[in-house]
Amino acid sequence: MTGEATDYLIIGAGAVGLAFADALLDEDPDCHITFVDKHAKPGGHWNDAYSFVALHRPSAFYGVNAMAFASEQIDTHGPNMGLYALASGTEVLAYFEKVMNLRLLPSGRVAYHRLAEFKGRDDTGTATVRGVLPGEETRITVRRKLVDATFYQTTAARSRCCP
Ligand SMILES: Cc1cc2nc3c(=O)[nH]c(=O)nc-3n(C[C@H](O)[C@H](O)[C@H](O)COP(=O)(O)OP(=O)(O)OC[C@H]3O[C@@H](n4cnc5c(N)ncnc54)[C@H](O)[C@@H]3O)c2cc1C
Repeated sequence: MTGEATDYLIIGAGAVGLAFADALLDEDPDCHITFVDKHAKPGGHWNDAYSFVALHRPSAFYGVNAMAFASEQIDTHGPNMGLYALASGTEVLAYFEKVMNLRLLPSGRVAYHRLAEFKGRDDTGTATVRGVLPGEETRITVRRKLVDATFYQTTAARSRCCP
C-alpha cells in the first residue's frame, strides 16, 4: 500500500470533474488536485458510449473554460444541417484527453489515478483507492475536500423497445 496527500480528491474524470479542476486551478492557485477514475482515459461515460452517440448541443457550449471545444463548422448535411456541428463521442474523448494532458497535468498540481476506484474514506478523512487491474491500494490524505463528480450517474441505456 502506498500513501499520498492532496487538497481536493475528485472522484470521476468526466465532464464535471474536469471542469471543476479547470476552474479550481485558476481560482485557487496553490491547491493540489487528485483525480481517481475507473476508466483508462478521461471523459467519463463517453468511454462507454456507442459509436453513433454524439453531443446533443453544439460543442461551443461544452467542455472546460480554459480550452475551447468550439468549432465554427456548420453541418452541411443530415438532420443537423445548417446548425453548428455536434461533436461525435470520439471527438469528445479526444477533447477531454487534451484537457487532461495539455491543461491539467502540465500544471504540476494535478495527479491522475486512472483505472482506479474510490473505495471510501475513514474517520480521519483518508481515502482508499484501489487499482482496477493490479488491485494495489493507495491511501490518500484529503486536506480540504472530497469532490463527488459522479453525482449525475450518467448512463446510456438501451431503450426497452430494443432489447
Ligand atoms: C448521449 C449523450 C449526449 C449528451 N450530450 C450532452 C450535450 O450535448 N451537452 C451537455 O451539456 N451534456 C450532454 N450530455 C450529458 C452528460 O451527462 C454530460 O455531458 C457529461 O458527460 C456527464 O459527465 P459527468 O462528469 O457528470 O459524468 P460521467 O461522464 O459519468 O463521469 C463520471 C466518472 O466517474 C467515474 N466513477 C464513478 N464511480 C467511481 C468510483 N467509485 N471510483 C472511481 N471512479 C468512479 C466513472 O468511471 C466516470 O468516468 C449527454 C449525455 C449523453 C449520455
